[in-house]
Amino acid sequence: MKALAVDIGGTHANCGLVEDRNILACECIDVASATNIRAVLSRVAEVFQKLVRSQSLSLGNFQGIAVGFPGLVDSRIGRVVSTNKKYDDAPGVDFCAWGLQALGLPLRIENDARMALLGESYAGAARGFGDVVMMTLGTGIGGVAMIEGRLLRGKHAQAGCLGGHIPVLFNGRPCTCGGIGCAEAEASGWSLPGIVKDFPGSSESSLSKYSLVGFKQLFLEAAHGDKTALAIRDRCLNVWAADAVALVHAYDPEVIVIGGGVMESANIIIPYIESHVHKYAWTPWGKVRVRSAELANNAALVGAVPLLSEKF
Ligand SMILES: [Zn+2]
Repeated sequence: MKALAVDIGGTHANCGLVEDRNILACECIDVASATNIRAVLSRVAEVFQKLVRSQSLSLGNFQGIAVGFPGLVDSRIGRVVSTNKKYDDAPGVDFCAWGLQALGLPLRIENDARMALLGESYAGAARGFGDVVMMTLGTGIGGVAMIEGRLLRGKHAQAGCLGGHIPVLFNGRPCTCGGIGCAEAEASGWSLPGIVKDFPGSSESSLSKYSLVGFKQLFLEAAHGDKTALAIRDRCLNVWAADAVALVHAYDPEVIVIGGGVMESANIIIPYIESHVHKYAWTPWGKVRVRSAELANNAALVGAVPLLSEKF
């Protein structure tokens, strides 16, 4: 099967032509300043048409369009259910009608993290497993679940995809979702600068030379032996590990797949989370495997064919 696929993120929209497990061509659009999804969609349609021409193909060679969206999505009705301060016009958009009108193809839309899990399950680190939890550690924390080979969706389409909003500290930091002490509020790209600022000793730390601290800088300064950076890094590892244990208890996976930009430091993160999960998760049947995602930024695009093939 050939499909058009787009993974719409907060700063980039990755557009690709996909054939089964392969990406034939792709192009990334900068959407950092975009607030309106309708404007992004018209640019996506132009890029799709350009990519199709570049491969000497026509739209008629494609079976459908798969859209990954960074918000709560009910793929069963083709609607965005809720957004979080980006593309707030999306719940009013009829994506399926747009697909037919702009490109003449049927469309399915899904939460971006769920689509990435479909990709890892189809051709990546979760291949061969039916029971999987995926965590994406980046600007936010994505946490999605597959049970018995099917994506978990639930009555309001939000089951299993709020893994970053599991509280790990009941009296912790406020989160963008309205909650308190969510994993995302305690250790994610957006919350890290505030965590560093409030951490005792940070003004004397080597972290103070950065105007904005990201995980790259945090892991670098920790590796150089800065005590505050090490303490904050270890705190983040503990937050992610506690979140992983909660996800194991909630969804009973055989494997946890971890992706996201911070996985440049997978050699530290994977063994830490794995040993924490093996020590603290209640799994009398054995040990949950913890693996790095394999498809990086292409996971959601590779999820296009399984999404379009899925039967409800
Ligand atoms: Zn939250």
